[in-house]
Amino acid sequence: MNGPLMTRRRLLAASALVPAAPALGQNARPAPAEADVVVVGAGAAGIAAARKLTAAGRSVIVLEAKDRPGGRCIADTVNFGMPMDLGAHWIHAPEDNPLVPLARAAGFQLYDDPERARLLVKGRRPREGEWEAYASALTRAQRAILDAGEAGREISLAAAMPTNLRDWQATVAFLKGAWDSGKELADISCVDFYNAIETRDLFCRQSYGAILAKLAEGLPIRLSTAVTRIDWSGRGVVVETPAGTIRARAAVVTASTAVLAAGTIRFAPALPKRQADAIAALSCGAYEHLIVHLPGNPMEAGADEPFVVKADTAATAKPLARIGGSDWWYLDIGGSFARDLATAGPAPMKAFAAEFIGNEFGPQARRAMGEVHVTSWVTDPFVRGAWSVAGPGATGQRLRLAEPVGQRIHFAGEATDEGLWGTVGGAFASGERAADQALRWLQPPARSRRRG
Ligand SMILES: Cc1cc2nc3c(=O)[nH]c(=O)nc-3n(C[C@H](O)[C@H](O)[C@H](O)COP(=O)(O)OP(=O)(O)OC[C@H]3O[C@@H](n4cnc5c(N)ncnc54)[C@H](O)[C@@H]3O)c2cc1C
Repeated sequence: MNGPLMTRRRLLAASALVPAAPALGQNARPAPAEADVVVVGAGAAGIAAARKLTAAGRSVIVLEAKDRPGGRCIADTVNFGMPMDLGAHWIHAPEDNPLVPLARAAGFQLYDDPERARLLVKGRRPREGEWEAYASALTRAQRAILDAGEAGREISLAAAMPTNLRDWQATVAFLKGAWDSGKELADISCVDFYNAIETRDLFCRQSYGAILAKLAEGLPIRLSTAVTRIDWSGRGVVVETPAGTIRARAAVVTASTAVLAAGTIRFAPALPKRQADAIAALSCGAYEHLIVHLPGNPMEAGADEPFVVKADTAATAKPLARIGGSDWWYLDIGGSFARDLATAGPAPMKAFAAEFIGNEFGPQARRAMGEVHVTSWVTDPFVRGAWSVAGPGATGQRLRLAEPVGQRIHFAGEATDEGLWGTVGGAFASGERAADQALRWLQPPARSRRRG
């Protein structure tokens, strides 16, 4: 488990990119003014909740601010000649991920990601002993973090990590912090890190985003409809949008913790301190894909081959070669560096990609480099980050956020899952959990009552 090639998970892999078109007809449906449950957000959690509630015979309206479902798990089918994941790409924890059997049943092709990363040291292959030194540093760091987490020590990764990793310190700090978690080491709890289920990942030939798009088909989703206020002062909820007000008996709220913390959705009365504290404690890190075209395979890379580049600073990236066997590469950036660069805009992001390719891959690759596309999840007003990460002492906040508020507001989303937090699978599982909570609050459906 702690081997040098086994990261805890690979959280790699809105924007200047054009996503796939939404499923036809989803915008055409007029919104009834009442439903049993309103679901806020049509990402993985919202899709799962809506599927479960409708299967239980409940009337549901899903309100989604964007013009398409999928949230942080979407594919661009326009710009790349293939479906390209703009958010989630790695299918984590296949044994525990509820999307895996659904994807297989729907005919999606899933395959193992290559295990072994290629190490590059300033544009060259490692010299004798360098690979071993890197692997040893990574293993020592991983072991120290997981030991602290297993012991329940709510300390930061920075406090747990050895400080004598010599010239591999910055590389390991980047891998465990910005790349694995989207935050700096000081802001990540060892216990939260330890709780995340770690196994081999899968890829989907048709893209991860395509799986969610498929699962959203036929659901009563109102696109381009942002929720501005949820009034829960009465027996049910009154959900306000610019397109009108909807009354329901319960709400499942799946917006990211960063969106909730920004106050984009106002609650009346205000949320109890317990939930407000949980939202604040589970803030989102930053993680972006720079998607680079490298025709001619100048690095002689295998399909989906992961790379590790020796780093001196946090201003670095983690390449994933030849996505799905194509000429497109991810250069993934994370943490404060990614937040600052994305905030600065697409031009500095593209300039960084070109500089990185030149410095780390060499002049031949730099000459071969074509188009660059970039994501900007941190500046997306309906996402505002990558995924939630608990800081030291905050691990318990995930289950608190999952507790029903007044029996009629049920928070779901990746932040509310303990073992699969930060993942699409965790978000989907949380949506099902929130739907179960809402169903318990509602009366049995009419047809059950008739049967006596
Ligand atoms: C770049 C990147 C790479 C990632 N890589 C991976 C990976 O490889 N594997 C993995 O498993 N996970 C990965 N993740 C994390 C994963 O994408 C998320 O954990 C997951 O998709 C979250 O799903 P969710 O349903 O909780 O939230 P979201 O997907 O954010 O869904 C919430 C929805 O609510 C909508 N919304 C927000 N505010 C409102 C409002 N006021 N009214 C109406 N709707 C609103 C949003 O538009 C959104 O569609 C990655 C994330 C990013 C950003």
